[in-house]
Amino acid sequence: MLRQVELVERVLSYDPQADEDLLNRAYIFTVKTHGSQVRASGDPYFSHPIEVAGILTELKLDTATIITALLHDTIEDTVATKEEIEKIFGAEISVLVDGVTKLSQLELQSDRTKQAENFSKLLVAMSNDIRVLLVKLADRLHNMRTLHFIKKPEKRVRIATETMEIYAPLAERIGIQSFRDELEDLAFVELNNEARKSILRRLEYLRSEGEDVVSNIVETLKQDTQEAGLQAEVSGREKRPYSIWRKMEKNNVTFEQLSDIIAFRVIVSTVEQCYHVLGLLHAKYSMVPGRFKDYISTPKRNNYRSLHTTIIGPERQRIEVQIRTNEMHETNEYGVAAHWQYKQQIGDAVKEGQQYRWLRELLEILEEASDPDEFLEHTKLNMYQDQVFCFSPKGDLISLPAGSSPVDFAYAVHTRVGDTCVGSKINGRMAPLRTVLRNGDQVEILRSKNQTPSPTWESFVVSGKARSAIRRFIRHQQRDQYIELGRSIIEKAFRTDGKPFTEKALNPVQKVWNVDSLDDVYYSVGDGTHTSRQILEIVFPGEKKETEKTAEVTLPKTKAPRKSKNDHAVPIKGLIPGMAMHLAGCCHPLPGDRIVGIVTTGKGVTIHTIQCDTLEQFSEVPERWLDVSWDTEGEELQVGRMTVVMANEAGALSSVTSTIAANNGNINNLVISNRSQDFFEMRIDVQVRNVKHLTNIMAALRADPVISSVERAVN
Ligand code: MN
Repeated sequence: MLRQVELVERVLSYDPQADEDLLNRAYIFTVKTHGSQVRASGDPYFSHPIEVAGILTELKLDTATIITALLHDTIEDTVATKEEIEKIFGAEISVLVDGVTKLSQLELQSDRTKQAENFSKLLVAMSNDIRVLLVKLADRLHNMRTLHFIKKPEKRVRIATETMEIYAPLAERIGIQSFRDELEDLAFVELNNEARKSILRRLEYLRSEGEDVVSNIVETLKQDTQEAGLQAEVSGREKRPYSIWRKMEKNNVTFEQLSDIIAFRVIVSTVEQCYHVLGLLHAKYSMVPGRFKDYISTPKRNNYRSLHTTIIGPERQRIEVQIRTNEMHETNEYGVAAHWQYKQQIGDAVKEGQQYRWLRELLEILEEASDPDEFLEHTKLNMYQDQVFCFSPKGDLISLPAGSSPVDFAYAVHTRVGDTCVGSKINGRMAPLRTVLRNGDQVEILRSKNQTPSPTWESFVVSGKARSAIRRFIRHQQRDQYIELGRSIIEKAFRTDGKPFTEKALNPVQKVWNVDSLDDVYYSVGDGTHTSRQILEIVFPGEKKETEKTAEVTLPKTKAPRKSKNDHAVPIKGLIPGMAMHLAGCCHPLPGDRIVGIVTTGKGVTIHTIQCDTLEQFSEVPERWLDVSWDTEGEELQVGRMTVVMANEAGALSSVTSTIAANNGNINNLVISNRSQDFFEMRIDVQVRNVKHLTNIMAALRADPVISSVERAVN
């Protein structure tokens, strides 16, 4: 385990300005808070965060990241709180520690293996700061180094699989080759140790066979570059068992040549020298066609840069040579962190704000165009900001468009789940169905067999699947409503005409209109395409005049309103927006108001108050009038509209709103329609139960001295 001084010295060696005091405090804090906790290895727990911090010093990361590493398990596993950390270490560090904690909690929650891709997207989406991701990767690396201490084999396999599928590709993606290599090999030990062992045995053999060969080649290549007047570092590096294995798996080949296991590296100072060395080698040795790759002019997506070529080398061996500059080498091994560090060293003094330049550079790299077959397609840090990832109670990860609600979630699980959802629990707590979900939320859908989709859901769902399912249902339900409405209109017309109503009587209508079913007849009357009078004309031809005279329906406005008899009136039940019956926007009828329905082709029936001026437009078409009555004093709230004139003085408006609230009215909308020096005129829409409720509110308002008048707004 790294001692306190060692850690601090390491940081100071690459960042002389580092906050030594704060580093010391973090070291002591983690030792103290983890106290006597022990790891599976038997080591004190705090050795883990300290090692993680040590790993991150290899990437030469800033003090905040190193401290975050030291503290990364304190919120999760000790009594320490985010607030405490903020107080001692400041807001930046507490946000970072909190970020790492959240990622760790996700790990616990998810049943990831089948959902590797979603899960890594989630990790990226949740790491608002790339440093959170770096700490997480280092955390995983240390856990993998100590994986063999874990006793349960299933647990080891689970962690290793997760590492192989999620963390190693993520390390690769952000360009930290050294992390990826080690993560993969540690996971390989756990997941397929037999394969790994046989590769190692084979390597051993090839190595013993070619021991001199490798050093001879290195020597010769060195001489070649020296003769050309170049300063170059040359080395031969054995490839890792896992990368050999992957190649074998992919290409279905065995490995038998040196070029399969050793990569030779030539490291020089400048880009020009790279090409110089390349020209040199190609001139002196024969190159193997099809193996040359220029990742300098076209870097890999994760910013990997190097020249690769394969030649028949000095010992008549096929060898792979990688040519790169020092800076490229550092960047390839340690990612953008190293890249930034390098620039800082050769650049001017660190300017304020430049400190995190590598973060921005990483963002740029991540934003660059991508190879579709590489792991995280089109990854950029904020790429997944338009998605939200949530868990089912079983741990399935569901990805939804940002802004999604539990209803979207329910439909994403299954249409039937969506259709029958009545409520939701988010992270174990009851939450409204319109709640906006956040990354990592665990969502449980409560269902009831009797539930059907509510048209109001359409106003807040965002996923296409939910929206289309709800619409489909509404269309279906709307049809049922039109059919029911059409049938009651027809029955009523028969009654008013003194004729007995039978379904059989409608057979001729079905023939004349050429429709498939009786329901279609009802529907076309319900939606206003046909009128009940047209039906009577078909069923009782020749009695037209008679029918017209008695044409039941109600009164043009000029006449005194006839009391609606319930057996003649079509009852209005709970009104649902978008359904066959809807309330007119002009007069806002309320339960208790005297009302009349107007049949509008294709739109069903619009309910107006009998005073409404709009009705005059329909005085010439009595067949479109429909006698309707309130079925119940509706429990659903309706909108009542008032015109209020009030004094233009301080506090007047708040007095009005509090009077409305005191009378259980809910203000829906408030528009100032006129304003003078002394008075305001406003239109206020309030949600009320019925007309009586509205009248009460108006009476209360009239009692208020700042109010000069209150009227029910008509049109
Ligand atoms: Mn940890």
